[in-house]
Amino acid sequence: MQNPSDELLSLAANIREHLSYLHELGVENAEPAIQEEHLPESSAATGRSDIIESFRSRSAVSQPSIARSVATTSAAAPKASRPLPKTSPAASDSLFGVLTPVSQKLEKTTETFEDIWTDVGNCTRCPLHQARTHIVHTEGNRRARLMFIGEAPGADEDAQARPFVGRAGQLLTKIIESIGFKREDVLIGNVNRCRPPGNRPPTEEEATTCKPFLLREIAAVQPEVIVVMGNTATRNLLNAKLGITKLRGEFQDYHGVKVMPTFHPAYLLRDPSKKQETWQDLKKVRNYLETSANSNP
Ligand code: URA
Repeated sequence: MQNPSDELLSLAANIREHLSYLHELGVENAEPAIQEEHLPESSAATGRSDIIESFRSRSAVSQPSIARSVATTSAAAPKASRPLPKTSPAASDSLFGVLTPVSQKLEKTTETFEDIWTDVGNCTRCPLHQARTHIVHTEGNRRARLMFIGEAPGADEDAQARPFVGRAGQLLTKIIESIGFKREDVLIGNVNRCRPPGNRPPTEEEATTCKPFLLREIAAVQPEVIVVMGNTATRNLLNAKLGITKLRGEFQDYHGVKVMPTFHPAYLLRDPSKKQETWQDLKKVRNYLETSANSNP
C-alpha cells in the first residue's frame, strides 16, 4: 500500500497536470477553485489519489477503438433504418420554444454499433453523400459515462473518417482532459456523418435523416451525461428552438439522460473569451459525474 505522503504527492501531481490543461484552454485564475474542488473534504482527509479515476469510466477495461473504415466498406445498398428506440416521441415545442420535459426513460437496446453502421451502409439518403470522402461514425468507449456530440465532420474528419480530429477536435481533447477524462474514455459523435460542403451547417432535412443513427447509438450505450456542442447538436437532440446562448450551462433532459449544452469548440477557436463559460459548463458535468460515481461506487 502507498504511504499517505506519496499518495498526497501523486494527488498534487494530478492537480498540477490538470491546471496545466486549464491554462492551455485559456482558463485564468483557476487555481483556488480547482484545489478546493479536487480536494473534497473526504479525499483530502484520507489522502486518496483515486479521485479522478473514480469518475472516469464505468469500466476499467478499455473498449477497442472503433475501426475507421467499417462503414465506408460496408454494404453497398442502404437498408431501411430500424425503428427508433421506443422512447422518442418528439418533444413538442411550446409557444415560446421552451423545452418540453421528456419523461419517458430511454430503453437500453442490445444492438451493437456494427449493427447500426451496417444499416448506415454506403449511405445515399441525403445529398451530403455526394461530396463526402468518408462516412464519419461515432468513436470511443462503448461503455462511456460521458458522450460529446458535435455537428458534422469537417475536412480533416472527412479525410480521416474519425470525428473531431482537426483543430476543433484537438481543443475538444483538451476540454475532455480538463475534467479528468481521457479522450478514449468518452464517446464522440456528430448529428451528421458526412461533411457538408464548405462546412455549412446541415439543413434540417439532412440532420433529420442522419440523426436516427446517433439516437440508436445513444440508446445502445446509455451514457449518464451527453454534452451537446453548439446549435446543431443542441437543437437536434433536444428538439429545442432556443439557441445555445440561451440553453448553455443548464442541464436538460433527454429521456432521463442529463444533457449539457455548451459552445462548440470551433466557436471557441473563433472567440476564445467563451472558454470561460465552457469551463463553467464542463465543471457542472464533472461534478455531476463525480457525485454519481461516489453515490454508486
Ligand atoms: N466539427 C464537428 O462538429 N464535428 C467534427 O467531427 C469536427 C468538427
